[in-house]
Amino acid sequence: MKYIIGNHKMNLDYITLKGYLKALKKVAKNSDNKVGVCVPYVYLDLAKKVLKGSNVLYGAQNMYYKEAGAFTGEVSPKMLIDFNCDMVILGHSERRHIFNETNNEINNKVISALNNNLTPILCVGETLEERNNKQTKKVILAQLKQGLKNIELENAKKIIFAYEPVWAIGTGVSATALDAETICKYIKEQLNKLFSTEFNFVVLYGGSMSEKNVSELLNNPSIDGGLIGGASLTIEKFKPLINYKN
Ligand code: PEP
Repeated sequence: MKYIIGNHKMNLDYITLKGYLKALKKVAKNSDNKVGVCVPYVYLDLAKKVLKGSNVLYGAQNMYYKEAGAFTGEVSPKMLIDFNCDMVILGHSERRHIFNETNNEINNKVISALNNNLTPILCVGETLEERNNKQTKKVILAQLKQGLKNIELENAKKIIFAYEPVWAIGTGVSATALDAETICKYIKEQLNKLFSTEFNFVVLYGGSMSEKNVSELLNNPSIDGGLIGGASLTIEKFKPLINYKN
C-alpha cells in the first residue's frame, strides 16, 4: 500500500472537477493504495458531496492557523473540518517561495491542523541552488526541526511528510529514484533522531511523478507514496498512479 495524493493547485473548474471526482471515486475503489486529492477551498463542498461514502481522502492545500477572527481572506482548520476534510497540505514549496511562508508560520499551521484532527501533509525540499551547494540535507533538517517545534511524538506520528525538491516540481524533471529514496530515508532517520524513537514515519516523494516514473520511484522501501501535481489533473493521467502495484 502506498499513498497516492493529488494536489490540484489552482486548476480545474467546477464542472470539470465534478466529472473528475465521480471518475476518481470509481478508479480508487479498486486500488490497493490510499488515494487522496487536495482541491481549491471553493470546491471542498463539491468534494464532500461527490466523494461521500467513497474511500477517497480529500482536503485543502493550505489553511491559516487561527480558529477564527479578523483575518480577511483566510480559511481556518474549523472550516476545513466543516467540510469533513481528512488532510491539508502545509509548507508546499509554492507557499514557501511565492507567498514567503516561513518555517515558523508552517509550524503554527501544523500544530493547529493536529489540534483539529486534520492530517498535515508537511512538505520539505531544497531549491536548485541549495542542491548545487550540497545543502540538501541541511535545509531539510532545518525545515523539519522548525516545522515540528513543540510537537510531541504521538502527534508527529500522525503527520504525512513529503519530500518535494523545488527544482522537480512542475518541471518535468523528477529526482532520480536513488536520490528520492536517499532523501526519504534520511528524513525518516532524522525524525527518529529528533523524537528519540524508532517509528516508520510516512514519507512521500513529490516532483514530476507520472506514469513514466511511478514504479521506479515507488518501488523503494523509504518512499511511502507520491504527492502529485500535474499528473493528478486528469483521471487518464492519474489512473496509472492510482493503480500502482508493487
Ligand atoms: C506538487 O505540486 O506537489 C507537485 C509535486 O507537482 P508536480 O507533480 O506537477 O511536479
